[in-house]
Amino acid sequence: MDKSTLDGLRTAYEAAPSPPLALVIVKGLITLGEIERVSRYLDALELPLPADDATLIGRALIDSEQPDAALVVLDVNDPKQAVLAAKACLASGDQDRAATLYNGAVHQNPELEDAELERATGANKRPKLRVIERDEDVVTNMDRYREEVTDFSAVVGLDAIKKQIHRKIILPFQKPSLFARFKKKVGGGVLLYGPPGCGKTLLARATAGECKAAFFNIEISDILDMYIGESERNLHAIFEKARTETPSVVFFDELEALAGKREFSRNSATSNVVSQFLTELDGFSQNNHGVLVLASTNVPWAIDPAFLRPGRFDRMFFVPPPDRDARQGILEHHMRDRPSAGGIDFAGIARKTGGFSGADLANLVEMAADEAIEESIDTGGEVPIGADHFAEGLSQTRATTIEWLTTARNYARYANDGGRYNDVLDFLKKHGQ
Ligand code: ATP
Repeated sequence: MDKSTLDGLRTAYEAAPSPPLALVIVKGLITLGEIERVSRYLDALELPLPADDATLIGRALIDSEQPDAALVVLDVNDPKQAVLAAKACLASGDQDRAATLYNGAVHQNPELEDAELERATGANKRPKLRVIERDEDVVTNMDRYREEVTDFSAVVGLDAIKKQIHRKIILPFQKPSLFARFKKKVGGGVLLYGPPGCGKTLLARATAGECKAAFFNIEISDILDMYIGESERNLHAIFEKARTETPSVVFFDELEALAGKREFSRNSATSNVVSQFLTELDGFSQNNHGVLVLASTNVPWAIDPAFLRPGRFDRMFFVPPPDRDARQGILEHHMRDRPSAGGIDFAGIARKTGGFSGADLANLVEMAADEAIEESIDTGGEVPIGADHFAEGLSQTRATTIEWLTTARNYARYANDGGRYNDVLDFLKKHGQ
């Protein structure tokens, strides 16, 4: 659009304002680089805008340092726009809301993950690993990463993967010399992948328990927070210390934060850490030294293939959403030791919760418990958790794995990398999706 056409439209708008005309003018102003004039028309827009328009306008407003205006036009129910809104919140100093928006968006669409934004918002940050600041702070004690272990009985369902883990991870780990005699390699890492909240971390922790090993949970985004140069030294120290704390399982959550493909994001500071990480992993490829390296990701397709080479994360296990029986089991498992009114139809709830992750189901139990507590406070007596509380909880929750499965299906169908995602295809076939 040229300037004179735009001027004509603006004159027409003054005579007869209308939302569609306001939208055309706003887009025209952005095209012509006159973003400072946009605010005059924002109130007239009919919201929500079509997603492409909202994204274009939101981004332009953020770029021109008008984050509050951007928040008016962005529809935070749309994950892509919610990520932009998170950036706008950051720019206007509301870090808490930025973190909430970012987490919500990535929960719905893991592909939107953005390590830089995640760090800036502080989203998902658990104060597990301190930022390393000075020489003497370089890791000297693994205790800061140590977490409680559990065993397979705490992981409901997932029988096929538990069996695979037992055969392919736990036994070689426990009997390395037997495997060595048969010329089977025992080193290398294992990558667990699947939708969020379906038990990857839980399985890793249980694998440690089954191996009678200590469990160290290392959050990669925190390693990357460290000063340049410190991250590499600290990573080296972590691997070194792990070798002295055997038997142990070292678990790297959100591997993509470090191992994301270059085209997704990678700056030169992180690439040194990447080299260090790969060197350390290669050191385990001949002998596991009593240390099992596990990692997890929600976006296996975004992992740099250099990480998946033999001796590195060369075994990938799909951790699927729970099937109906497992859903029932997870609900019952999380209800253990809580006051129950009885008569709760867990099988019926399991039928209604297709696509729910284990975490969604655990959350449903929490919500039912909250309802019962509220009622107890209102009535002044202990009201046990009953079917009504679950019904109320169900009305407020929804399945979170569907979007992940849709994305995974596309990768499995069109970018299956030599059958890497066959387990996903088998799962989808079995569950008719
Ligand atoms: P993310 O990808 O978001 O890190 P995750 O796959 O690692 O998720 P977990 O942290 O292992 O998921 O699971 C979250 C919570 O959900 C667990 O702490 C547990 O309460 C519940 N949960 C998930 N799967 C199961 C399961 N199979 N049995 C029992 N509880 C489960």
